Amino acid sequence: MKPNQKRTAIYPGTFDPITLGHVDVVRRGLKLFDRLVIGVAANPNKQPMFDLDTRLGMVCQTFAGDERIEAVSFDGLLVELARDQGANAILRGLRAASDFEYEFQMATMNRRLDEEIETAFVMAREDYTFVSSRFIREIASMGGDVSELVPEAVLPHLNKS
Ligand code: ADP
Repeated sequence: MKPNQKRTAIYPGTFDPITLGHVDVVRRGLKLFDRLVIGVAANPNKQPMFDLDTRLGMVCQTFAGDERIEAVSFDGLLVELARDQGANAILRGLRAASDFEYEFQMATMNRRLDEEIETAFVMAREDYTFVSSRFIREIASMGGDVSELVPEAVLPHLNKS
């Protein structure tokens, strides 16, 4: 890597919808990397509640105005997205031991696919360890208040559903 080259990481996820836990991972990631590309995965096998454009839109709105952060959607291999974006790292967040197994498998698989790309993990802020997109969807669908757990851009979409 050249001395003046920007360190870029991809932060991939389903973001169905983006939560303040995700935002916290981004903030922490920016301490390690100069530029973050948030990769919103199509993930049709997860049958997301929000369509891809809506998920991407909520992410873009959340970080509008911060030129260190960019958001794109993707449906191919993560390591290919990383290469296309000039990123040599993948950023992920860990909440609890239960996240570890899946994250470990994914990181190992991605390393097999491209030895040059490292996966970096940051730990969730304590008060967001229980926050997941699934939890937000469930609470919101039952009329619960999640306004302190998601970025503003998400609220109109939750109220619609
Ligand atoms: P995926 O379907 O790829 O797991 P998610 O949108 O659920 O996508 O999560 C993306 C990443 O963000 C994962 O690494 C996940 O562990 C992390 N993450 C999600 N919620 C939190 C949170 N509250 N604190 C820290 N990391 C989180």
